[in-house]
Formats: sequence, C-alpha cells, structure tokens
Amino acid sequence: MRDTKYIKSINGKVSAIGMGTWGIGGGYWSPDYSGDDEWVRVLREGIGLGMTLIDTAEMYGGGHTEEIVGRSIKGFPREELFIVSKVWPNHARYDDVLRSARASANRLGTYIDLYLLHWPAPDVPICETMRAMERLVDDGVIRFFGLSNFDVNGIEEARSCLSKYDVAAVENRYSLLHRVDESSVIPYVQRNGMLYLAYTPIEKGAFSNNEFLMGIGKKYGKTAIQVVLNWYVGIDNLVPIPKAGRVEHVRENAGAMGWRLSRDDWELISNHFH
Ligand code: NAP
Repeated sequence: MRDTKYIKSINGKVSAIGMGTWGIGGGYWSPDYSGDDEWVRVLREGIGLGMTLIDTAEMYGGGHTEEIVGRSIKGFPREELFIVSKVWPNHARYDDVLRSARASANRLGTYIDLYLLHWPAPDVPICETMRAMERLVDDGVIRFFGLSNFDVNGIEEARSCLSKYDVAAVENRYSLLHRVDESSVIPYVQRNGMLYLAYTPIEKGAFSNNEFLMGIGKKYGKTAIQVVLNWYVGIDNLVPIPKAGRVEHVRENAGAMGWRLSRDDWELISNHFH
C-alpha cells in the first residue's frame, strides 16, 4: 500500500489566490537587481493581504527571484506560507535535482513546500527525478512535489515511478481564454485530490478592460480582474497565481478573495468565454 502524501491534506490551508514571480528579479536565467526593494515591498504587501502561496523557480532571474522571495517572507509565520519552486529540466538527473533543491532552499532561506519539475523534456529521466523528489521529502528539504506543463499521460508516467509518496500538484497554463486542461488535467487532479496551480491566469492583464467582466463586477463593487480571479476560486482544487510587480496590482488581486460570485454569474462568465 502506498504511503501517499497528497496535497489534499493541506488543502484549505493554501490561499485561494497565490502570487507568481516571473519577471521579478530578472528573466530567463539572468538576474536583475534594479527593483529589489520595491519587489520585496510588493510581495510583502501581498502576503500581508493573504496571498500566502508564492510561486517561483530556480530559472527565474537565475535564482535571484528566490532570493527576493526569501527576503520578502522574513517575519511572517512560516507555517502560514506556502512556497513553490521548480527545477529546470536540465537538472532532472537524481544528483542534480538534489543539488538544485538545496540551492533553492538556501536562496529562499527555508524549506520548499512544493517542488515541481518545471517542464517535461525528452531527455528527462523521469523516474530518477521522481526518486530524487522522494529523497528530498525524506530529507526535509521539500514537503510535497509535483509537475509543471504536464498532460495526464505524463503525470501517470511520473506517478508510476514512485514507491513512497505521490505527485501532490500540477502547475499548468489555465485561464478563461486558455481552457485546454478543463476536460483533462483539471478533472484528473480533482479526482486524485491534488492541487492545480493555474499560471498566466489574468492573461498578462488583458482582462482588465473587458466590458463584460466590468459589467458583472459592478454588481459586486469589483473590477474585471477581481471577477476573473474570483471565477477561478470557484473551481475545486485550483489556485490561480497572478504575478504583480506593482503594489496597486497586488492590492487589486487580493481584493478577489473574501467574497463569491453567485453560481449564475459564475456560469454566465464560463459560457461567455467558451
Ligand atoms: P499573469 O499573472 O497572467 O500576468 C502578469 C501581468 O499582469 C504582469 O504584467 C502584471 O503587471 C499584470 N497584472 C497583475 N495584476 C494586474 C492587475 N490587477 N491589473 C492589470 N494588470 C495586472 O502572467 P504570468 O506572469 O505569465 O503568470 C503568473 C505566474 O505563473 C508567473 O509569474 C509564474 O510565477 C507562473 N508561471 C509558471 C509557468 C510554468 O511553466 N510553470 C509559466 C508561466 C508562468 P505588473 O507586473 O506591472 O504588476
């Protein structure tokens, strides 16, 4: 019998909306130190407003984004935070996964709650990667692990390699305008009690002037972005992770929590974008 370690056991303890960090502290394997103090201020504001799940990766800013996250979480109760980081596929061999995770944890200054393989790739030795993930749980470097940019077949293949713990979460692209996973990965994740992290959920801000969403939002005293983000809150096991580099955006995004669209409005929005 598997000693499963589903994220379900902590579901309800992760915030309804998280924070992405792509672009904060640099880009593809390259750091940018120019906005550090402001980025820390923005992330701290978001945490203070209840967006306690933070998504980052070793690739973001070549590790500098993790350093900024590490600075941002100082002073907040650790057990109320949920830090997600990722290993790049060129580090997917057993020893490399261990090395990458420990380096990420050092930059963050703490353990990692959820550690993801960032992308599938033909040369990823998936069973080695998964065995390394199990070892990292046992070593206390990470609490849970999962997969990013995987389809159901890929998730099943990875799960078949595991002997001790299970895949706890999947992070894929999902938004009202990008709904591929709705008939595949999302129901799979829900059936298996995993967490689904939805990335690029506000389509880089493209929803902010959407008149249909603004119209719905008027009823609730909410903006179009807050309506979209609340629509995701209505999906079981799913947490959107919008990225905001500005305080006014982080405040707006946090304002999508603590209220609920009516079921009728939820359906209306769902059908409007189909
Ligand atoms: P996103 O969250 O949909 O959009 C981010 C953009 O929206 C930024 O330009 C931001 O501007 C703007 N924005 C934020 N809040 C806003 C608001 N209230 N009103 C108007 N515009 C607003 O896209 P994303 O960054 O691609 O995705 C989110 C996160 O998902 C990433 O940061 C990353 O952590 C994760 N991700 C993961 C993967 C993966 O392969 N696993 C891939 C892509 C992304 P400002 O910065 O100026 O505030």
